[in-house]
Amino acid sequence: MHIHHLNTGTMCPIGRRLVNGTGSIFQRARMVCHCLLLETQDGLALVDTGIGLDDIANPMRLGRRWVRQTSPRLNPAEAAVHQVKALGYAASDVRHLLLTHLDRDHAGGMPDFPKAKVHVHRREYEMAVLGKPAAPKGRYVIEQWKHGPDWALYDGGGEDWFGFKAVRALGDREADILLIPLPGHTLGHCGVAVRGKDKWILHAGDAYFFHGQLRERVRMPLVLGYFQRRVDMDQAVRVANQERLRALQAAHGAEVEIINSHDPVHYENCRCGGH
Ligand SMILES: [Zn+2]
Repeated sequence: MHIHHLNTGTMCPIGRRLVNGTGSIFQRARMVCHCLLLETQDGLALVDTGIGLDDIANPMRLGRRWVRQTSPRLNPAEAAVHQVKALGYAASDVRHLLLTHLDRDHAGGMPDFPKAKVHVHRREYEMAVLGKPAAPKGRYVIEQWKHGPDWALYDGGGEDWFGFKAVRALGDREADILLIPLPGHTLGHCGVAVRGKDKWILHAGDAYFFHGQLRERVRMPLVLGYFQRRVDMDQAVRVANQERLRALQAAHGAEVEIINSHDPVHYENCRCGGH
């Protein structure tokens, strides 16, 4: 399967050293919204959608505090739909959106692909869309799904994948695209595993934020760590899942490349390495 790596939204908060772990605290940091564009048997599929054109047209819907803290660049050329077109496809060629969760910087591009089927864990849908149980105030931007997408909902997984429970997201014809529950950041948060040319890629969404968190000696920049804790819905569960990812990397690093949504180091590695 061919996999494209797209950055569908750059965020530039202050204090680079305390966010990216490099450079000066006086520089702006760089965080990305790392999405995958997959060429499947059933058209194109996007893993996460980043920040969309409606968000860029009306940034205040993303929340005043969020915009102030993350300083998104809001460049329409970064929107997934424009990058899909730049690759020579039509927006309607994207048939499936596989969302790790429904936070604003992952679901924002949904309305740019209004006909696509949206695949998400049932618990994520229930809290974000139905409010059962109620989401923390201001957590989700419900305008991002007001067009009424065609949802496909998933419960806990079926098959074993390197010790994780996995479920085939696009049915039996696509054995190589798996949804893997990794809750904690949100209650229905999932990773998406995709079999590339020579290894699996596990897009772990926001299950961890920084490549140093999967190292043998865990490293995490101070402010990024603070931000991570503040947005955890179930911290103990997220930390336990991060530990499982760290063990997966240690045992199967040659077969599985683990990436996350916002770390620019993962993103640049993928862009250069190609899959
Ligand atoms: Zn995120």
